[in-house]
Amino acid sequence: MEPILVRRCRFAVDPVEGVLRDVDIYLEGGQISCVGECTEKSGIVLDAHSMICMPALYNAHTHAAMVLFRGFHDDAKLEEWLERVWRAEKRLTPGIVADASKLAVMEMLSTGTAGFVDMYFYPEETARVAEEMGIRALVGPVMLENMTSIEKWVSETLRLAKNLEKGRLVRLVVNVHSLYAAPIEAVEAGLEIAARTGARLQMHAAETRREVYAVKKRYGKFPVEALRDAGLLTGKLHLVHMGWATSWEYRAVAEAGATVAHCPVSNMKLATAGFLPLHDLQGEGITVGLGTDGAASNNVLDMFREMKAAVLLQRHSYWDTRVKALHALRAATLGGAEIMGLRAGRLKPGYEADLVLLDASSLHLQPLRADNLVSALVYAATGSDVAYTIVAGRIAYSPEKASRFSREARRIAERLNSFFKEETMVRGKGASPSGLVSR
Ligand SMILES: [Zn+2]
Repeated sequence: MEPILVRRCRFAVDPVEGVLRDVDIYLEGGQISCVGECTEKSGIVLDAHSMICMPALYNAHTHAAMVLFRGFHDDAKLEEWLERVWRAEKRLTPGIVADASKLAVMEMLSTGTAGFVDMYFYPEETARVAEEMGIRALVGPVMLENMTSIEKWVSETLRLAKNLEKGRLVRLVVNVHSLYAAPIEAVEAGLEIAARTGARLQMHAAETRREVYAVKKRYGKFPVEALRDAGLLTGKLHLVHMGWATSWEYRAVAEAGATVAHCPVSNMKLATAGFLPLHDLQGEGITVGLGTDGAASNNVLDMFREMKAAVLLQRHSYWDTRVKALHALRAATLGGAEIMGLRAGRLKPGYEADLVLLDASSLHLQPLRADNLVSALVYAATGSDVAYTIVAGRIAYSPEKASRFSREARRIAERLNSFFKEETMVRGKGASPSGLVSR
């Protein structure tokens, strides 16, 4: 792997130390080896005098291949939407998941994401695509009680873990959908796999009031309480959503050292509401990452937009400004990195060489200064300002690759659209989900 010299970044942002000016960053052996004046270095040179350099972002929860369902009945109520998605998902094939995963990975790389925590069907397809495209991922089969048994899921998960050992960037995550869609025994079995493989166990928890009622009915307890009382709330758990948890459940999460993914856009779009006290969680030392959730409920995988939404939702919910731009930036970089098991999220020697370079001349970032830079990144930038995404010391996205990505996306979109022909024929003519008649 050829080293990379990022020469003279106009601004470089470290989420702990702050903003640096006119620095070089040298990457070798997949790690950052120099930040500052890096003289007499050879390798690929990226001129960054008109760029902002920052650690790459990590998507702490998504269903990558659900880009297939972008814009699919997405103004319908949650129950109707879910029913239609589940019906369509019965027709999924490995080929469709591979195509959709590739589209999702191109979108993530082109918007500054270096890694994602996934939960979807045919994870071996997503894993293969992620390795090929040069993005980090955690993947694993999903335990859903109406689709598989615990035994079958355990053996599939262990098989995948074995296959992933050969890879460079993709690792296992043990996926239990939730306590309302899988029995608590699955979490127990999943934690055994986690202990054997070193993986985390990801599950949706306390996402909706309906879920809380369902779990209370089944176990007589709130979701996190039920896990804790069964001895299953450990530092291996990665809990997604957590907008409808109680204060004592958050304390239990902090004591256990479990991590949390906050998905503000998905929560708002699906009208599930909830109040995730981001400031308190970070204050209690809980590692919180930001996730887009799937594109079916977002509808983009752009982590810059997610950072802004995270701050806005906190301010709207709590009527105060304790959550600052920097809190969102830290969640999307350091928080996500920790969830993915990486020493990353900083511009410091010894950290993983996962970097993003943004165009500092974008109109909507002006007037740009060192003192408003973090604010510009969180409130004004979008993923389309990204010029380069470097993952593990390799350039995974660049201006040269952009047109190749667009061509490939068009080809994939055509194939994905043919998946919906059957759906259209079933529904017949009439109004499209958006309410507009298409011609
Ligand atoms: Zn989800």
